[in-house]
Amino acid sequence: MDEFLRWLVLAFWSIVGGLAIVWGVAGYYHLRYYVLRRHEPETWKCQPKRWLRPEQQRQAMRLTTLNMTVGGLLSGTFIWSLDRGLPTGLYFDFAERGWAWFLFSSAAFFVLVDLLAYYAHRAMHHKLVFRQVHSWHHRYVATTPFVVTAMHPVEFLTFQAVTFVPMFFLPIYYLTAITVFVYILVFNIIDHSGVKLSSRWPWQGPTSFHDDHHAHFHCNFGQCLLLWDRLHGTLRRKNRRYGADVYGGRGSGGSSDDDFVSYK
Ligand SMILES: [Zn+2]
Ligand SMILES: [Zn+2]
Repeated sequence: MDEFLRWLVLAFWSIVGGLAIVWGVAGYYHLRYYVLRRHEPETWKCQPKRWLRPEQQRQAMRLTTLNMTVGGLLSGTFIWSLDRGLPTGLYFDFAERGWAWFLFSSAAFFVLVDLLAYYAHRAMHHKLVFRQVHSWHHRYVATTPFVVTAMHPVEFLTFQAVTFVPMFFLPIYYLTAITVFVYILVFNIIDHSGVKLSSRWPWQGPTSFHDDHHAHFHCNFGQCLLLWDRLHGTLRRKNRRYGADVYGGRGSGGSSDDDFVSYK
């Protein structure tokens, strides 16, 4: 097949795949809660008194769709490049490395991507970067599922790059990479749903963790694991003041032995 056509087909299906996940999962939560249970927000909503204005919701939908389209284009190009010999750590024959390596590398890949996402997100909360770039995403104080990738395109590309980096260094089975990316996307949608939910996976925090990030701004920078915030002391603490103008991740006021908020 002509190379250009091959690239076009891969890019097309990557875009369609990403948009189908976002619109499918976000649409499900939107319909289930924001349409069918709109009249009883105190029973399900993290911030029952706060709603996005209709134009904010439309803006979030447009931005998320735009970024996912760009992301799909890049993912398609990445897959196309693999075929043309792009050197990465990905392997395609399971028997090449066996079960032990598969299990270890799958866990390591997930943890590494999550760690890098923590640092990238925390860097976005540096005063300068926050005002210029990340504040786009923080316009949505009460989030909805469609806020998932409603962000400045520079931020979206940064997160996509950070997520892809470990694939170049760690030998990973290709299905692991796909599974981890889909998992991250789906849980990011759920974490932005604005609906009070807890996960059945012990390592995955409840939705209130990232919802608090939007409500309080400079704390809870983690993506899936709460571990990095615990280690760095950036998990939200009781008795501290947080807000758009309180940078640094540790709030203001209170004392050094203030308890962390428990997220279960
Ligand atoms: Zn943030
Ligand atoms: Zn967010």
